[in-house]
Amino acid sequence: MSTDPLLRFDDGLPDELLALDELDLLQALGRPTLVRWPGTGEARARAVATLLHGDESTGLEAMLRVLRRRRVYPFDLYHVIGNVRAALEPPGFAHRYLDDQEDFNRIWGLGDPTTAQRLAADAILAELRGADLESLVDIHNNTGDNPFYAIVTLETPEVLNLATLFTTTLLRWDLELHTLMEATHDLCPSIAVECGLPGRPESRAFAIDALRRYFGAEPLATNQVVRDHDLLGGMYKVMVRPEVRFRFGGELDDMVDLVLDADLDAHNFREVPAGLVLGWVRPGAAVPLHAIDSEGTDVTDEHFEVVGQHLVVTAPGTPVMMTRTVEATRKDCLFYLATERPAPIDAEQLDSGRLDSGSLDPGRFDSGRLDPGRLDPGRLDPGSLDPEHLDSGHLDPSAGDWSDAPSRAGRRLGALDGTGVLDADPADPGDNGLSARLQPRPLR
Ligand SMILES: [Zn+2]
Repeated sequence: MSTDPLLRFDDGLPDELLALDELDLLQALGRPTLVRWPGTGEARARAVATLLHGDESTGLEAMLRVLRRRRVYPFDLYHVIGNVRAALEPPGFAHRYLDDQEDFNRIWGLGDPTTAQRLAADAILAELRGADLESLVDIHNNTGDNPFYAIVTLETPEVLNLATLFTTTLLRWDLELHTLMEATHDLCPSIAVECGLPGRPESRAFAIDALRRYFGAEPLATNQVVRDHDLLGGMYKVMVRPEVRFRFGGELDDMVDLVLDADLDAHNFREVPAGLVLGWVRPGAAVPLHAIDSEGTDVTDEHFEVVGQHLVVTAPGTPVMMTRTVEATRKDCLFYLATERPAPIDAEQLDSGRLDSGSLDPGRFDSGRLDPGRLDPGRLDPGSLDPEHLDSGHLDPSAGDWSDAPSRAGRRLGALDGTGVLDADPADPGDNGLSARLQPRPLR
């Protein structure tokens, strides 16, 4: 039996393998695999990575669906199939990585490989480095509800043009976590694309559609950004402290130290206000979270506080990639917090002709304050538009302007039924000063 860390195919997959369903194919491969699909050689090579996380099946499903047509592209196409072992572990596509493994998307470019997994990553990287790549796309899923979005590490025109072939909601990633995207971004435009929850038909349809756009696209323009987009950045990583036992939903009991709101992922990609309740702890418990910025600096105290029994957010921010599983929280984090929102577009840029004013909806790019003219009654639940909520700043209508996710978060914010936003009460002895920072924000 072979002990090679990486399986290679230089001339595509044979028909008998390509015809198999996903898990049967992975069974036949048995290990990380790199497939080169030869093109006509008219254009530089492109690469797609899938399944670096064993529970994220959408990228592989979509690639197989597209590849089964056996189109010959103008470019060689490299396809990485990552954590095959984790994906095969029963019941299939259930584990990000196995307990005896490392996260396959945190080991790229480390050098001095000591394990089969690191050797496989290094071998893939060496081959990609020799392939004169034009671009690389790494396809993932989320473990909570999120819109489809792409992650970039650089903001050059070609990177933004690559990302917006897939979707125009973008995150800038500067956390330096040894991902494939980071290990290849000096080589070519390199992005990650997040396709929502795995196993959903809409996730797969998005990925198939986006891959076909990518494979049919002309070489990326390097002189200008072709499509409008929204970019979030300033990412903090928010983890549950390792000693804290927790679950999503239910009541606090002897089995756990923290109960997280089961619907937290409804806030993904929406700016949440100070006072949002994330969960519940015992009175006297310290903040059960640990948040770091891109430098590794502890920023927990700037963003989270325990008020009475409530774990609350103390500054506005935009959670992204919020999960709803304990395993994903432990193996990566609870969520990332984006502290930089899409930049406003100023009149100077419009005047200079760099942007086509005809394509811009000015309402989307203003200060995020409430402009009654922008309210689309079809998108906002009228019940949440009661003047009291507007006055107190609970409703931020800019949240969701650039995301078409269902407005579950908006409805929850309007509900104020003991969850949602915590009203700081000066008469409440458990309110240790948060009220001073929870003054109503005027909405203009
Ligand atoms: Zn992933």
